[in-house]
Amino acid sequence: MIYMSEVSKIYSNGLVALADITVEIASGDFVFIVGPSGAGKSTFIKLIFREELPSSGKIVVNGRNVANMSPGDVPYLRRNLGIVFQDFRLLPNKTVYDNVAFAMRVVEAPRREIQKRVYNVLELVGLRHKVRTYPAELSGGEQQRVAIARAIVNNPAVVIADEPTGNLDPDTSWEIMKVLDSINKAGTTVVMATHDKTVVDGMRKRVLAIEKGRIVRDQQKGVYGYED
Ligand code: ADP
Ligand code: ADP
Repeated sequence: MIYMSEVSKIYSNGLVALADITVEIASGDFVFIVGPSGAGKSTFIKLIFREELPSSGKIVVNGRNVANMSPGDVPYLRRNLGIVFQDFRLLPNKTVYDNVAFAMRVVEAPRREIQKRVYNVLELVGLRHKVRTYPAELSGGEQQRVAIARAIVNNPAVVIADEPTGNLDPDTSWEIMKVLDSINKAGTTVVMATHDKTVVDGMRKRVLAIEKGRIVRDQQKGVYGYED
């Protein structure tokens, strides 16, 4: 599903963010990316959706080499990825319905199909009753659930998330994890960078620990492994 071979990322200022990463994430995996601040977790996530390009190495996502993909193919790559951020990134002047529908309108799905699917994913995240609400009227946890609904509306093979619980309290974080777990159990691969020890230790999924740009641990049913 996701395969990296000897991937390095050196930013233009010379900083080595990732060095010689080789890893395989299989279809249906649930993987936490952990490690100290500045270790390279966000860079790892950004390489998957081609927000950043590797300096060297090969990155295959859904059978396509992301590193040498033409710019015109990037939108197709991203349609097969659901992306969730720490700060939600909802459109403030659009309703919950429109925030989620927007991603399907972009791919020109038929209107009936859009309605059905938007209701389905909002049901899945427990927010069907909030369709006409605007993001500012929702709690942080509800906004993140809308963001997850938007991420999965086009039925992506992979959901990638960068610190999705970073702005949420522990109870709310746990609700978000239950949603991600059910999406994963339905067959979607989940890759999540996180600092959240409680979440990682509670879920016992595969853990990839990155330190100074290198993978230092790859553990099934893993733990967070740091004190913070
Ligand atoms: P993490 O998510 O683990 O905190 P990042 O992937 O954000 O780590 O960053 C890894 C390293 O790369 C850090 O030293 C960071 O300062 C550096 N870095 C991140 N983005 C850039 C950038 N656009 N330009 C230069 N250096 C960057
Ligand atoms: P268009 O495809 O022309 O943008 P839609 O029919 O998808 O129009 O949506 C028009 C407006 O009606 C949107 O602002 C949306 O918020 C609202 N809307 C559409 N369908 C629903 C629905 N099933 N539930 C709640 N609001 C809806």
